[in-house]
Amino acid sequence: MSVWRDVIGQEAAVAVLERAVRDPASMTHAWLFTGPPGSGRSVAARAFAAALLCPQGGCGECRECRTALDATHADVDVIATEGLSIKVEQARDLVQLAAHRPSVGRYRVIVVEDADRLTERAADALLKALEEPAPRTVWMLCAPSVEDVIITIRSRSRHVRLRTPSVEAVADLLVRRDGVDHSMALYAARAAQSHVGLARRLARDEHARIRRHDVVSMAGKIVSVGEAVGAAQDIVTIAQEESAAASGERDAAERARLLEVLGADPTARTQPPHVRSQVAALEREQMTRATRFTRDVVDRALVDLLSVYRDALVHRTRAGAALVNEDSRAVVTRVAEAFTPEQLLRAMDAVGTARERIGANVAPLLALEAMALSLRLPR
Ligand SMILES: [Zn+2]
Repeated sequence: MSVWRDVIGQEAAVAVLERAVRDPASMTHAWLFTGPPGSGRSVAARAFAAALLCPQGGCGECRECRTALDATHADVDVIATEGLSIKVEQARDLVQLAAHRPSVGRYRVIVVEDADRLTERAADALLKALEEPAPRTVWMLCAPSVEDVIITIRSRSRHVRLRTPSVEAVADLLVRRDGVDHSMALYAARAAQSHVGLARRLARDEHARIRRHDVVSMAGKIVSVGEAVGAAQDIVTIAQEESAAASGERDAAERARLLEVLGADPTARTQPPHVRSQVAALEREQMTRATRFTRDVVDRALVDLLSVYRDALVHRTRAGAALVNEDSRAVVTRVAEAFTPEQLLRAMDAVGTARERIGANVAPLLALEAMALSLRLPR
């Protein structure tokens, strides 16, 4: 057993981190973990935290290891944001926290899961802590790529680059860690394109598999303008339903808790002004969370859609090669036969453009309609 057991397909990165644990000369107080979504940035950061806090350098079994891995250790703080950005107030809280000595361990570790979501002012606030580090505080910032983090932060951290793990490595992890059946694990790892979290979800949640299948099937069905518009609407609806399912119960519970804290009567038709303003603030926060969630689901759907056109290209050039959508070969074949390679590339461009536009805050339905119109199959 080792603390690195769930950090899969990252031999080079693990070697660097293990050396830092063993050799004080290789250690530094700020690390930047980059890698595509689902490559395990946060998992790697937590494993590193555990290894630093473990008396044996990362046995994977002692209390220090276990609590560091699940982020319940007193000296490990994992900051994940569900909003669209990490605000300057949050960053200042982190800087304060970083100034404190560790309470029980050798180090105090602060993991920022979405360092790419730091606002400019928040990043500036963090910078001070990185420039004048507290002696035993270690920062671990995670982001998709170095370009996503402002240069001043980049230049003060050591960079650890994670790669996309292989399909087989992800499947093995699902079998070993989550007890998933081997063929299901292989399907899920492939369909999720090695995104570990998504693969786990696909393997365990039948609804997620059905939704993915619906999105993939769209590629083989869009012929008329009406069908294109309908497909765009379907993607938005799928995303909104998923978002509502994920947040409904939690939103209501948060509201009930807030009313309780404020001593307000939850059944009252009108609330006093101070309660109303707090409830309104909570609702704004919940709305932001739902927006981000919906946008993430739409983006995932587009990644799935994109994989069909890429598969179609692969199918045309290297028939028999393994496809992401091995389970939907009929759709891939239909698309491959209907489009020329140039048209397939244009379709991939259209999906990429829609992702960029939604990322830049264009209304999803609008961006998706424009995309779907360029995905129409020739009659
Ligand atoms: Zn240990």
